[in-house]
Amino acid sequence: MPGTSAANIENRPQRVLPKILFLPFALAFLLLLFTGNALAEEEALIYKNARDRMVRTQIKSRGISDPATLRAMESVPRHLFVPEALVPHAYDDRPLPIGYGQTISQPYIVAYMTEIVQPKPQQRILEIGTGSGYQAAILAETGVSVYTVEIIPELAKNASERLSRLGYGGIQVKSGDGYFGWEKYAPYDAIVVTAAAEYIPPPLLVQLKDGGRMVIPVGSPFFVQTLMLVEKHGKETVTHSLMPVRFVPFRRAE
Ligand code: SAH
Repeated sequence: MPGTSAANIENRPQRVLPKILFLPFALAFLLLLFTGNALAEEEALIYKNARDRMVRTQIKSRGISDPATLRAMESVPRHLFVPEALVPHAYDDRPLPIGYGQTISQPYIVAYMTEIVQPKPQQRILEIGTGSGYQAAILAETGVSVYTVEIIPELAKNASERLSRLGYGGIQVKSGDGYFGWEKYAPYDAIVVTAAAEYIPPPLLVQLKDGGRMVIPVGSPFFVQTLMLVEKHGKETVTHSLMPVRFVPFRRAE
């Protein structure tokens, strides 16, 4: 009937009961939200403490002193770069498996390789061997632009997604054979190679800026290798042996 609908609405029994019932639910929801947040904050604090301890006992104590490197190691959540089952070991003084037969390097080695290439804001750094993306995130935290190449497509995809999720979307990840570097963004101020090669891939030297620095483990796979620092001065390269290390092998695309 025309004209009666407004009156009908007015006369409808008020929905007082459901509104009252809603109140405890809303309160419970807010409480959950609050405790959820509090728990998340507490968890973040626990990991922050673990990171600070890691930096103190494994990194500063072994002589790493570059402030940018130390700040990066204190801030990147390493526990979000390891498989879930290994989260309790994320800040241990050792490498950890990340699947596909690969590893995330020991925290000290990541810090050492970062400090040795002397990253400065606005520089471009190429990493070969993205793996979990952790070393790339550490480099990015120092203010450089990071380009990273990974030969195992699944690792490249996972790392790229993880880096975006954690706010490192500026890092460019490419799936491919890092032997050839990444011509598109060359030359680089520094190159960090995180897999052990039998020799220094010549394309990487070409893509290194004059005055640039490359750090690379060189030696036979499955044996102790030598971490080398390579400095490029025009056509000359100067290499320094830094320390014995053990990295996963540098592979070649078939
Ligand atoms: N930087 C990594 C550690 C990765 S371990 C991290 O922070 O987690 C070394 C990685 O190098 C492995 O993921 C391996 O698949 C990759 N790799 C080996 N040979 C490669 C090549 N020729 N090009 C690109 N990546 C390579």
